Amino acid sequence: MLIVMKPNSPEEYIKNIEELLKTKGFMAHISRGEINTVIGAVGGKTIDDRREFELMQGVQEVIKISSSYKLASRTFQPENTVIKVKDSVIGGDKIAVIAGPCAVESLEQLEIIAEYLNNCGVKMLRGGAFKPRTSPYSFQGLGEEGLKYLKQVADKYNMTIVSEVMESSQIDLCMKYVDILQVGARNMQNFNLLKQLGYIDKPVLLKRGLSATIEELLMSAEYIMAGGNRNIILCERGIRTFETATRNTLDISAIPVIKKLSHLPIIVDPSHATGLRDKVAPMSRAAIAAGADGITIEIHNSPDTALCDGAQSLYLNQFKELYDELKGIAPVVKREL
Ligand code: PEP
Ligand code: MN
Repeated sequence: MLIVMKPNSPEEYIKNIEELLKTKGFMAHISRGEINTVIGAVGGKTIDDRREFELMQGVQEVIKISSSYKLASRTFQPENTVIKVKDSVIGGDKIAVIAGPCAVESLEQLEIIAEYLNNCGVKMLRGGAFKPRTSPYSFQGLGEEGLKYLKQVADKYNMTIVSEVMESSQIDLCMKYVDILQVGARNMQNFNLLKQLGYIDKPVLLKRGLSATIEELLMSAEYIMAGGNRNIILCERGIRTFETATRNTLDISAIPVIKKLSHLPIIVDPSHATGLRDKVAPMSRAAIAAGADGITIEIHNSPDTALCDGAQSLYLNQFKELYDELKGIAPVVKREL
C-alpha cells in the first residue's frame, strides 16, 4: 500500500500515519518527492478497509499495491492451475465443456440429455437439484432425488457431475453425488458457505456475483482456498448493467483480466449471461476466442416446456452445431476441444 500525501503536508500528518501503520504491524518507508511525500507500507497484515487512511489528515490518495488475495494470485503461483476430476480436465490444453439442463426435472429428461452429450463426446453434465429462484413460487428443484438422478445417468456414461450447493447444510449431501460443487452467483459472497467449501476435497465452480467486481470474485475464491481447497474454477456469467437487451451483460474482458491476475481456470456461462438462446452460440465463440478455459451451457430436450430457463436453453441439435463450431475455433487460440 502506498499513501500519497497532499503537497506541503506538515510533518505532523506524516507522523500520524507512520504511527497508525506501526500499530497495524507495518513498516513505513517515506519518500519525499518534490511535490508529494509518499509513504510505502510494507509487511503487516492486509488492510481490508483503506478508508481509515484515506480519511486521515493530509492524505491525497491511497494506492493498493499488493493484492489482498494471495493464494488465488499469479504472484503466488505463476503457472496455471489444472484441475482433474474423473476423466475431465479444466484449465489444461483442452477446452472444458459442461452442458445440461438448468434444473434436473426427471430421470427421463436427464437420460435423453446425457445420452446426447455422450454421443457428442461431452463428459461434463450440469443440472441443478437445488435451485436459487428469484421467485419463491417457481420450481425450487428436486433436491436429493435430483442428485440421485444425476448420479445414475453420470455413472452410466462415466460423466462428471456439476451441481449447485446453496448452503452449508447441503454440502455433505452434495459430496455423496456431485463431482464439482457449484456456488451460484447469488451465493458468491456467502462467506460461511465459502469457508466450509475450503475443507472439502472436491473442486468448486465459483460463479461471479450479479454485481461483483473481479476483485471480489477473486476474494471469494481466496476464502475457499484459505481453508485448503485449491481447486477452484471461476465462472464469468454476466453482470448487471444498465443494458436490458440481454438478461445480464457478459463481461468478456473479465477473461484476460482474470488470466493475468490469477492462475485459476476461468470458464464462461453464456446462457445466464444473455438469457436468450440465439445469443448463446456467438457468446460461446467469443469466450473461447478470448481465452476462456471452458464454457457451461444450458441445454434441454424440450426447452419450450422446461421448468426453468427454457428461453436460454439450446435445443440438442443447436448444441451439437455449436460444439462443432468450437472445435474449429479452439486451435486458432492454441487449444483443443
Ligand atoms: C445456474 O448455473 O444454474 C445458475 C443458477 O446460475 P447463476 O448462479 O449464475 O445465476
Ligand atoms: Mn439456469
